[in-house]
Amino acid sequence: MGRDLSSKCKRCRAVGVKLFLKGERCLGDRCALELRNFPPGPRRRRGKVTDYGTHLREKQLMRRMFGTGERQFRNYFKQAKRTPGVTGEELVRLLERRLDNVIFRAGLADSRAQARQLVTHRHFWVNGRVVDRPSYLVRVSDVVEVKPERRGRPYYRMLKERGLDELPPDFWLSFDPEKLRAEVRRLPKADEMEENFQHLLVVEYYSNRV
Ligand code: SF4
Repeated sequence: MGRDLSSKCKRCRAVGVKLFLKGERCLGDRCALELRNFPPGPRRRRGKVTDYGTHLREKQLMRRMFGTGERQFRNYFKQAKRTPGVTGEELVRLLERRLDNVIFRAGLADSRAQARQLVTHRHFWVNGRVVDRPSYLVRVSDVVEVKPERRGRPYYRMLKERGLDELPPDFWLSFDPEKLRAEVRRLPKADEMEENFQHLLVVEYYSNRV
């Protein structure tokens, strides 16, 4: 997958929504979208958005939030379309099942970008085997945990000192902060995502393109 090397904050400013790509900084008053809530480049205000623009923006927002490339995102869409059920909901479900997202949801990384880096640096086991592919899709009963030899590293000690929380009992993932271990209880539902995507717009965007 080609890496998107553009500035993370510019990606947020382009869609006008916080994508939370920089961890803690996104929560403070140094967030670029709080300071400069206008698109990057010479235009300093958001013009009238066309119908096409609204659809494109929602697609870009979802794609950038999960940090996938254009082609990979389109492939997720095709896969969702082939799956029985509501295509938009299946799309969100697929993205949510990515390994980097699971690590982010568990609180083991401040952003999905950081989770991706930890995965590619081979920090995690899935069901006792190293998985270094951030796009790995977890299944029900999968166990994701930090490799034993990495658990003593300063980064994980810092996380424990900062305080890791268990996940709510009705969430699709469970997390054991002591063992740095997450388990997939069930498949995620589109309506329990805090990001609240308008997935219908994304489906409409692709309806004539794939
Ligand atoms: Fe986006 Fe975070 Fe940058 Fe704010 S600080 S603009 S949320 S990446």
